Amino acid sequence: MQNNETRTCPICGKTYHDHPALSRTDGRMEICPDCGTRQALEAVGIPAEKQEKILEVIHEKLRENDDKNSCG
Ligand SMILES: [Zn+2]
Repeated sequence: MQNNETRTCPICGKTYHDHPALSRTDGRMEICPDCGTRQALEAVGIPAEKQEKILEVIHEKLRENDDKNSCG
């Protein structure tokens, strides 16, 4: 019963059910996949407004995949 565990991201405060990402700042804090992506983009020098654009694209894709798989 660990698959649907609800976690709260300590960075953005959002609750999520996906696998957590590890914060790059301390390597142990579990953060939401979105913040994990933001930190990864930040690390390669992508500015904040582009990070949000990229996240939008990722969310779009995830929704498409959900529709295709529809195993929920
Ligand atoms: Zn977050």
